[in-house]
Formats: sequence, C-alpha cells, structure tokens
Amino acid sequence: MSNIAHWLKPCLQQVQVLKKTNRLSHALLITGADGVGQEELAREMVKDLMCEVDQAAACGNCHSCQLMRADTHPDFRVLDGEASSIKVDQVRLLVRQMSQKPQVGQNKVVLITHAQAMNINAANAVLKALEEPSARTYFVLTSSQSTRLLATIRSRCLLINVPTPTKAEVTQWLGEQPEGSTLSSLFWLTTQPFRLLSLQQQGKVSLYANLPDQLLSMLQGRSSVTDVLKGLDSNNIEDYCNGLAAVLHQCICHSTGAPLDQALQAIYKALMARLGIQSLMMRYQSLQALKSDLQKTNLNPIMQLTHELNQW
Ligand SMILES: [Zn+2]
Repeated sequence: MSNIAHWLKPCLQQVQVLKKTNRLSHALLITGADGVGQEELAREMVKDLMCEVDQAAACGNCHSCQLMRADTHPDFRVLDGEASSIKVDQVRLLVRQMSQKPQVGQNKVVLITHAQAMNINAANAVLKALEEPSARTYFVLTSSQSTRLLATIRSRCLLINVPTPTKAEVTQWLGEQPEGSTLSSLFWLTTQPFRLLSLQQQGKVSLYANLPDQLLSMLQGRSSVTDVLKGLDSNNIEDYCNGLAAVLHQCICHSTGAPLDQALQAIYKALMARLGIQSLMMRYQSLQALKSDLQKTNLNPIMQLTHELNQW
C-alpha cells in the first residue's frame, strides 16, 4: 500500500475492496474536518481508479499509472474550489470532455476538491452528471463542509468519512515528515496535520512559532506592539489575524476549563490579569471583524491591526 497517513488507510482499503469486486459507486464523497487529509486520500483513490490493471491498488507501472505520476493523464480532470468558487461553465466543460471515450485506459475520473465551493448552478450541473453517469466515469468529491452540498448530490455518493487523528497520532506522523517534528510547536494554533504541513510548505512556520513569545514580551512590557508586528505586510496580515485570534480563542476556551497548550500558559495569565475574560472576548470579536473586513475596507489594515493590538 502506498505511504499515506495511517488514519487514511482504512478509508483507502474500503474503496480498493469495492473496486476489486466491481461494486464501487460511480460517485464518492470524502468528508472530514479541515486538514485531516481528504485531498491526499482522494488523490490516492484516483490513482487506483485510473490504473489499467484489474486489481485493488494502482500497479504503478502501466501507461495510466505513468501518466498519473507525470500529471498528464488526459482522462483525469480536477476542479479545486479552495481559492475561489467553482462555476457552472467549468463543470459543463469538464462534463463535455468526460463524455468522450477514454483516451488511454478504461476509466475516467473527475476530482472536485473543496466541493462546497460550487455555486448553485455548478452544483446542479454536477448533479445532472451524477444522475446520467457516463460509463466508467467516476466523480470523486472532497469537502470539509459537506452539509453545504446539495442533499441530492450527497445522497448519490458513497460517503467516506475521514476520522480526525489524535494529537499523539499527529505527533508521530509529523515526526516521519522531513523537518516535520518542529511543527508540533504550532499545536496551540492547530493540530490538523495537513494544515501544519501546508504552513511549512508556504514558509510560514516561523511567523506563527514566534508569535507567542513576542506577545508575551509585549504583555510584560519588554517590547512594543511595533516589535510584534515588525514582519507584518499586506500579504501576511491574514496570518497575523489567524495567529492572534487562535491565541485569544484558546485562552477563552481555557477559562471555561479546556486544556491549554504549554506555549500559551504565560500569555493566558498575563491577558487575564490585564483584560479579564469579558474584554478578552471583545478583543476576539473585534479581531474576527477586522479579518472579515480585510477584503472590503479601504482603511490601512496594518494600522488597524496595530490599533487592535494596542488594546491588549
Ligand atoms: Zn497501473
């Protein structure tokens, strides 16, 4: 079996068995919390489906497997809704392409990741394709918010729910990734394994990793707001907002008894002493509002965040 995270393996095996016994539905919906690996699982499943050899898992050697590895398989199409919504024209074009005979192997696969990003017309076009499936064409959808999909789409799919790994499982898995063990220092921000990996790939680990110490230093009067925000620019302001919001959120949860990551223990004490729980909640709401206004407002976002942090 391919080297995927071990909490994904039972889901992959389930589909491999169905494929091997010719009982696999032509539509699959992979759900689970953000960052647990739906997309990685989907990509593995697609490889198995595209392989020309009649066996459960991809052989890795046939022409289809080689084309998949080179990312040039003509019978495989992807729509990704992570960055922007999926439009009806994109779906129609793809369905038209998929109505042709396979050019290489026997199967054709459409992968739609972050499928909740389909607008209503796009969703209806997908539904139509699911209702009138072309032979040997599979639709694989992933979503962390599957309740936002049309119920009629969900009901036509085989549902595969990815379990959320425990902190211990995530720690072990990170230890197996290149330079992954340092990522456990960001557990105060998230324990979602693929979100952590994505932050590493984007070169954002130090931005987040340094934040707790910088904040503590500011709260204890050893440095200024300007020091905390010295790396801030228009490209990473969302990250700063996310980091600050995560600190406040964890502290608010801790005030009601939830465990608190070691990295935030001293900040919690300092914030409670300075602000108290009511003001802490107000600062959290204010930060969320600032974040959602980032796209719409003409005000200087860096000035706004400086103003926000001045009230901590
Ligand atoms: Zn193969």
